[in-house]
Amino acid sequence: MAYVRGRMLVWAILAGALGLSCRGAPGTPLADYDITPGDMRARISFLASDRLQGRGTPSRGLDIAASYVESEFRRLGLESPAGGYTQRYQLVRTEMGSGWSLALQRGNQRATLDHRTDFWGLPWAAGTVEGRLRFVGTDAGGVIESDEPTIWVARLTTNMMPREWQRAASAAGAVGLLLVTAPDMLEPQARHWLSEGETVYELGDLEVSLPAALVSEEALSAAMQQIGLEVPPADPHDGGIAAGARLRLSADLRVETLSAPNVLGILQGSDRRLRKEYVLVSAHLDALGVGYPVDDDSIYNGADDNASGVAAVLEVAEAMMAAGRPPKRSLAFLAVSGEELGLLGSAWFVEHPPIPLDKIVANLNIDMVGRNWEDTIAVIGKPYSSLGMLVDSVTAAHPDLGLATVDDPWPADGFFFGSDHFNFARKGIPAVFFFNGVHEDYHRPSDEVSKIKFEKASRIARLIYEVARTVANADDPPHWDPEARSRIVEGAR
Ligand SMILES: [Zn+2]
Repeated sequence: MAYVRGRMLVWAILAGALGLSCRGAPGTPLADYDITPGDMRARISFLASDRLQGRGTPSRGLDIAASYVESEFRRLGLESPAGGYTQRYQLVRTEMGSGWSLALQRGNQRATLDHRTDFWGLPWAAGTVEGRLRFVGTDAGGVIESDEPTIWVARLTTNMMPREWQRAASAAGAVGLLLVTAPDMLEPQARHWLSEGETVYELGDLEVSLPAALVSEEALSAAMQQIGLEVPPADPHDGGIAAGARLRLSADLRVETLSAPNVLGILQGSDRRLRKEYVLVSAHLDALGVGYPVDDDSIYNGADDNASGVAAVLEVAEAMMAAGRPPKRSLAFLAVSGEELGLLGSAWFVEHPPIPLDKIVANLNIDMVGRNWEDTIAVIGKPYSSLGMLVDSVTAAHPDLGLATVDDPWPADGFFFGSDHFNFARKGIPAVFFFNGVHEDYHRPSDEVSKIKFEKASRIARLIYEVARTVANADDPPHWDPEARSRIVEGAR
């Protein structure tokens, strides 16, 4: 507890230093629509300040940001779920070591392959494994393991993703996995799994893993010939065992288990029946932390991406608390982390939901609402459910906001799959994503507070307030377009 208090103290000092004021006790009445450019400025200025060091996942800056959100939820009078406002999820950090080795042996003949030339290690599991080679080709179907330790040699195609191979090999009892690829694809494919710093973050609830490597087809064939093995190898449907040959793979990884926060606050609905249902308003709290300097600046502040969205969540929550009688359904306000690592916080949330997932009737996700157009906001996912029509009708009813809501102007970029609402949508929750599009400062240290359009961001927060209120008061919950549902929800299963 001392640690938590310590962090709270730090944020209070920082907030004080930045001139961020606390406005009154929980429940203090405010005028409806008390969402001002100044409010957005204060919140974004704190979250995106250099002192929070870019809120990387996981980091002290992110924890301070989460403490700030939790203390705001508490101050506003939002309730916490049973486990408390902050849900900490496990994050496994894996860093590549340099001691990888791969060798083939048959009788007294031996061939070794070179790491980073002939093969690249995959950041899945550490350790040394040894066994027979089983060539499984491009399809894991029908492979039955014997008791003897076996290392699978599979061909990497679009047919089966590496993680599917991992699951299939683990399930069949294999002790290791080699994924064979074309020599010119070896490095690009390996780099795809390793971030710049050769460090990978994954959730801590993944199933068992096994040591694995990507291997150049050419290098593997040469090594096999060197020890007198047939190339191409025996037909996989014959069992695919390379007679008399053994393979030894040493995977050198440094693995550390860490944790990161999601923060959830709840406003109970006013209707005795409908309050069991929730409208979820979300934004990601994390940015890219400290990274490669650009123009002597190494802090990736993430003012637009996504201090702007978190500020909007807090402002909508504050306006909702100040408006007197709550809407019929309950509202859940969520700040997740790990978004920039691959939507990890929201992926954990949907697997370990602090409130019943099947009672969340809609997700309004906010990611980047402080830049670009003054008069327009893209609402990605609008055609996929009745939420789209609802957003349009709320926008039309509020010409005072001076905003137009448009469908995805960049369908080729796949933005629907690029933020946390996707994790809710694939679980069957109708979702839309408020987004102003990328810009020259996107994912760069120059995504700074000084470039934010606070007035415009405050109008978007007001629009989201109205949308949230309307969804929460509607007789019927939003429903999917059947085609979109079969593609996004069923397709994800
Ligand atoms: Zn973002």
